[in-house]
Formats: sequence, structure tokens, C-alpha cells
Amino acid sequence: MLNALSKMFFLLLGIAMLWCGHSTLAAEDTGWNLQMTNAAELWRTPSKAESLTFSSDKKSRPKAVYNTSRTSRPVVALTFDDGPHGVLTPKLLDILRDAHVRATFFVLGSNVSAYPDIARRIVAEGHEIASHSWSHPSLTKVSAGRFEHEIRDTTDIIERTTGQRVTMMRPPYGALNHRVTKALLEDYQLDVILWDVDPLDWRRPGSDAITRRLVSGAHPGAILLAHDIHPGTIAAIPATIAQLKAKGFSFATVSELLAMDEPTLQKSPMQKKPDAPSISVSGSIPAPEENGKSIPQRVDAEAHKVAE
Ligand SMILES: [Zn+2]
Repeated sequence: MLNALSKMFFLLLGIAMLWCGHSTLAAEDTGWNLQMTNAAELWRTPSKAESLTFSSDKKSRPKAVYNTSRTSRPVVALTFDDGPHGVLTPKLLDILRDAHVRATFFVLGSNVSAYPDIARRIVAEGHEIASHSWSHPSLTKVSAGRFEHEIRDTTDIIERTTGQRVTMMRPPYGALNHRVTKALLEDYQLDVILWDVDPLDWRRPGSDAITRRLVSGAHPGAILLAHDIHPGTIAAIPATIAQLKAKGFSFATVSELLAMDEPTLQKSPMQKKPDAPSISVSGSIPAPEENGKSIPQRVDAEAHKVAE
């Protein structure tokens, strides 16, 4: 009798081990799915943070460098760099709220630390928030330790402060080389977001010029660059939104715009702007820098001082 019980025990143990082995295999195959279908997890409703984690698009497309979205839909993404600014960003948020427009903010970790309430307001009002480094260095010129701080600490403070997961990074000045690009895409799993319409608002050309440049440069899928640390930029936004709407454009966050990207759709030459950074939409890592020349070529495009 005891012997029979032992046999039964080992038989059950064997079945259990086989089942576990299958589960492990399934985990490797399906990633998150297993954790959601595992019997022990079925009772549990995912928290908000987990839902954000599940939204990872790792499986649907690889991380990549983007300066535009290839879509025929008349949609653009307004992006604002270098904030949050203690005075100007709330003014901009008022404008966007009144116009029912959502934008994407590439923020500095140091400014999120200084203005956590404004960072939370950005997210609470439906905008997207993403990393622009901690203190705005050219990432091609910093040590490995400083690079780690600039990227990891900024992601951490944004996520801790706002609860929104960071999936994208815009390098200061658009400065990239192969090493930096590879680290952002592979080590940190961040999409690298550049732009294809640059009004050079950091040169403070006046709000009319900023509006004119943004509106004339807009095309389906365009990523529009601006900075919410300059009064002239904030003043330009109501007219910019009104004129873009009058031309039939609607607005999306960068993530939404990238979701519309159709790799098979080629941009016509008319849509290629002369001020576009040299990296086009790509699912692969750009070629290594040659002769110390980093990419994109126009690293001066955003060469402004962060000082407020
Ligand atoms: Zn910047």
C-alpha cells in the first residue's frame, strides 16, 4: 500500500514537472501572456503600472529612430522640448486644453525634479511625456557614467512623478552617433525621436515667424519641434493650431503618430523638408559614425542654451 502511494506520488510529481517545463517554454515564447494566463494570476486585476508595462510594443516593432511618420493621414505631432518651465509650460497647457489638442513633451529630468506638479499636469491632461536627458548635454560627448545618469535617472523621475511609462527619448541637439543610438535603442529600449519641421524658435524670431514656419512645414505625419521655455513660442501656438486646423490637420501624440507609420508608404519629394535631420524612419540602427562625424549632420539644429 505504501509502495503504491509512493508510486502515485512520483507519478504526480513527474506530471507536475512536465507541466512546469511546458510553462517555462511558454513563458519564453509568449512573454507577458503567460503571466496573465497563469492560473495563480487569474484572480488578479493588473494595476495601472502593470497595464502600462503591458502596452510595450516590443513585440509589434523594434525600437527605431524616427524623424517623421509615413502616413497619408493629415495628422501631425506637436512636440515641446526642454521644460517643464515654471511659468510658460502652465500657460501652454492652458492653450492646448482650450484648443483640445494633445502634444508630446520631451522634458529634462532636472526640470521634472524642480516642477513635479507641472509634470503631473502634463500627463493628467492627456499629453505624452518623454525623456530629453537630465541636464541637456550632447550625449555623444559624455562619459559612460554620465550617460547612464542622463538616461536612467530621467526615465526614473518621470515614471515616479507621473506614473507614465517612458518609451521615447529625444537626444539634446539631435546629437547621435552609433554608440549612443545603439545604447538608447537596445540597452534602454527607447525609441529615438527627432523631428522634421524645425522653426528655429530658440533663435527667438518672433511668434509670427514661428507660426509661419510650423504651418508651412506641416505635412501628413510631421513631427513639429518647438520649445516651451521661450515666450515667443508659447505666443505662437494659438495661431499655429488654428491655422493647422484650417488646413485640415488634426493632432496626435508622437506614439499615436508612430502607430500610423506605414513603412511601405514612401514620402514624395515634396514632403521632404530641406531642414530635416539626415536620419529617416528606420527599424535598424544607423551606420557607425565615420571619421568622427556624428549623425545626424545638423546637430546644431537645436543648439540653444537651456538657461531660462
Ligand atoms: Zn533641447
